[in-house]
Amino acid sequence: MQNHSLKQEILRDELTQLMNRRSLERELNQLSTTAIWRIQPIFSVIVCDIDYFKLVNDVYGHLIGDEVLQVLAQRLQGQLRRGTPAYRYGGEEFVVVLTETPLSQAVDVAERLRHTIRSTPIQTKVGLIDITASFGIAQQNISFDSSAWDVLKRADDALYEAKRQGRDRVYVLKPCLKRAED
Ligand code: GH3
Ligand code: MG
Ligand code: MG
Repeated sequence: MQNHSLKQEILRDELTQLMNRRSLERELNQLSTTAIWRIQPIFSVIVCDIDYFKLVNDVYGHLIGDEVLQVLAQRLQGQLRRGTPAYRYGGEEFVVVLTETPLSQAVDVAERLRHTIRSTPIQTKVGLIDITASFGIAQQNISFDSSAWDVLKRADDALYEAKRQGRDRVYVLKPCLKRAED
């Protein structure tokens, strides 16, 4: 029992109570297992990053920034199916791994998450704060990716493009195949 709660502690992020980066690493390694890499149903990865979060800290202070992270994390998790964790990947960056989910469905999920964040300001000790977030998505491609880490990398590159194009949006990046698909 004690062992179990210790394990939970190691895999959870203290501030948000979401699963942490270490836990994400385990899931990505699991999905990359050579025995299942090519035969598992297609999965997609969503990376989400809060827009202009530094500004929240600068204007309201770090503690209020922490509050925003906590509320937002719960909101994200609340939109996902039981058994689909949202991971806190870094400071104000979150990852969702959607198993058995092709790109089109992953886009729907990301759009739902984006709306959930932008449609209701976040209640904090100093009042309501408007927040938006940007999303990058990629789908596993077995002829292009050699592990789930490649899919995460592409989702991260997609996020960069979502930011570049103005934020508060979902961007999808498909792998650049060397020859045209026929
Ligand atoms: P962008 O739209 O390009 O993502 O801009 P940004 O300001 O969100 O991005 P930037 O990477 O410049 O800043 C991220 C900020 O997140 C800076 C850092 O202080 C803050 N941050 C990271 N972790 C935490 C945390 O645990 N608590 C708080 N309050 N702030 C954090
Ligand atoms: Mg940010
Ligand atoms: Mg960031």
